[in-house]
Amino acid sequence: MKAVQVIEYDEPPVFVDVPDPQITRPLDVIVKIGGAGVCRTDLHILEGQWKERSGVALPYTIGHENAGWVAEVGQAVTNVKVGDPVILHPLVTCGLCRACRAGDDVHCMNSTFPGIDTDGGYAEYLKTTARSVVPLDPSLEPASVAALADAGLTAYHAVAKAARVLRPGDKAVVIGAGGLGHIGIQVLRALSPVEMIVIDRSPEALALAKELGADHTLVADGSEADRVRDLTAGHGAEAVLDFVGEGGAVETGMACLRRNGNYYVIGYGGHLHVPTIEVISTEINFIGNLVGSYNDLSELMVLAAQGKVSLHTQRYPLASFQDALADLAAGAVRGRAILIP
Ligand SMILES: [Zn+2]
Ligand SMILES: [Zn+2]
Repeated sequence: MKAVQVIEYDEPPVFVDVPDPQITRPLDVIVKIGGAGVCRTDLHILEGQWKERSGVALPYTIGHENAGWVAEVGQAVTNVKVGDPVILHPLVTCGLCRACRAGDDVHCMNSTFPGIDTDGGYAEYLKTTARSVVPLDPSLEPASVAALADAGLTAYHAVAKAARVLRPGDKAVVIGAGGLGHIGIQVLRALSPVEMIVIDRSPEALALAKELGADHTLVADGSEADRVRDLTAGHGAEAVLDFVGEGGAVETGMACLRRNGNYYVIGYGGHLHVPTIEVISTEINFIGNLVGSYNDLSELMVLAAQGKVSLHTQRYPLASFQDALADLAAGAVRGRAILIP
């Protein structure tokens, strides 16, 4: 089959013929890729930023946001059959460790991550296991949801966590209405009656946020925290969902948080500098968010099938991967770039 492989870091990846993946264990599932999302992480992998962390041996196939159709199953697979449309949870997990048994597959002690530390989905076929395939509603086309497997899943994981504790009448501030943020806004609107205040630098992003269900939108111009105070009778918001995590967003977010509020860290890059007396005297909480679980992805697919969460895609044939990567690096992709084998 054809695949896009990293041969050397800091070199363009190459389009090569590689052997088709084979079923070797009873729970293996081979998926014919219908769409593979092109992610900023892929650019970082090519730059070598993940070299030490992943420890992957080169050459290997990148692509960690995958959806398609089941092509072949191991003898013990009962949850999907050949031809079923599926989206793939990004991790291949063991099902036996303590974290997996708690439904917390993201922290599996024996996981692999196709596209990061083993062969991924910039290819015609990908091998995963029965534990990682989420069947898709027939109304959903794999290429249109593939990118929800990572960026969308991260946004869902954080927002669903917040929505579980937010009550009618509560206020939530969303910082950043870009790639992850605009999915988070849709999820928050679908899951919670909370009054939603969205902050972004871009008026276009805020216009989209309003369309997607934001109650208030504020341009980040330095006055946004004051305006959040005005909208919350001086108290601040019960939840701050920070999809930016750098460049002043954290300071803004902190100034928007009310006593006993929850600060959800999703974007990253900056630092938290909080006097501990502030934390104990106001009982504020800081909550980290990684990618979501299998169940998070299943729930996100329910919202997608209901038309409550959607994602704009810009599609490229697999052979044009170089254009997709270049467009992403140049900021020329609207929504998410998707490779179609
Ligand atoms: Zn990604
Ligand atoms: Zn496990």
